[in-house]
Amino acid sequence: MSLANGRQYLAIPGPSVMPDRVLQAMHRPAPNIYTGPLVEMTHGLVADLKQVARTAHDVAIYIANGHGAWEAALSNTMSRGDRVLVLGTGRFCIGWGELATGLGLETQVIDFGYRGEIDLARVAEALRADTGHRIKGVLAVHVDTSSSVKNDIAGLRRTLDATGHPALLFSDNIASLAADEFHMDDWGVDVMVAGSQKGLMVPPGMGFVFFSPRADAARAHADCVTPYWDWRPRAAPEAYYQHFCGTAPTHHLYGLREALDMILKEEGLEAVWHRHGVLARAIWAAVGAWGQGTEIALNISDPACRSHAVTTVRMGGNHGTRLRHWMEREAGVTLGIPLGAGAEEENGIFRIGHMGHVNAQMIMAVLGSLQAGMIALNVPHGPGGLEAAAAVLAAG
Ligand SMILES: *Cc1c(COP(=O)(O)O)cnc(C)c1O
Repeated sequence: MSLANGRQYLAIPGPSVMPDRVLQAMHRPAPNIYTGPLVEMTHGLVADLKQVARTAHDVAIYIANGHGAWEAALSNTMSRGDRVLVLGTGRFCIGWGELATGLGLETQVIDFGYRGEIDLARVAEALRADTGHRIKGVLAVHVDTSSSVKNDIAGLRRTLDATGHPALLFSDNIASLAADEFHMDDWGVDVMVAGSQKGLMVPPGMGFVFFSPRADAARAHADCVTPYWDWRPRAAPEAYYQHFCGTAPTHHLYGLREALDMILKEEGLEAVWHRHGVLARAIWAAVGAWGQGTEIALNISDPACRSHAVTTVRMGGNHGTRLRHWMEREAGVTLGIPLGAGAEEENGIFRIGHMGHVNAQMIMAVLGSLQAGMIALNVPHGPGGLEAAAAVLAAG
């Protein structure tokens, strides 16, 4: 017997919950891809994507997941043998660095581990040591979806400026865009990558690369650029076909149109950021209460460095895996698997994805189900978790 039958909540950090409206917008016959409504709609999408990124610069759209956007970002700016500084705070930036190695770039990795943010002083040290300016790009993730850390991207810009280092600043916002506050231009980001399937609430399959004029200047002599991944025709297409280097991702575009209307026209980007902030704090409050006198804890201890899109929870022992299985089997909630924690710890860890189309009742449902699971599985936990979360939601 199970209590899981009913609407499921896929609470993994991407793909995220898709609004029914987005799905309905995609449910239509194939459109004309040469002229007409689809073509006109695409111009508005580009303008709205830039608003979500808070940028006046360019964006190229790829029919790709986040990994494709990663590769596009590097191949448009780098030449074989160029060095990039990889700032690891979990699995994702390390993965981006591995992709850079595969492209023939040299990587210099500073690994800050799984439990904390980028240490700007150490970055400054590495940049100062690079007197010949061999480092051409600094790669950071805004929110590392494995550890759930949020890094200080504006601080990285200040560090580059303070050290007088000319490297381009790259930010991976695949998890954080339209969830955590971000200002591409004000924060001085040169290249930002995002995907469709997290905060943007659209199925996986579209990758976005936003780039500054400085990054585009690097494009002029980058020898990694290849015709398909070249961002120039995509950002300034003479014909609609060049937007996508071929057939447009027709149905994704309709889904994206609906999602951007929800984000920008109806709720408003600042309200979207606020909602994610309150929901995240409700989760933190519950975990904090459960952790009284027990091993249960948030992976990231400093609240200022925690993502509002995803939360990595440490349960200890094998309680993470047991709870994850119980939640799926008995409550209809799928939690995120541990990623990047290391083999000894990983059975103690799970992640909650709370990006995109998520509201207060869904968060209370996940937390309430977790508490039921802890009772069912005899996982020791402190009292008052749900009360603490409810108080955060009540305060708004
Ligand atoms: C999901 C994610 C990726 C990878 O995106 P894919 O679409 O799975 O290729 C990269 N970076 C971050 C921060 C992510 O959250």
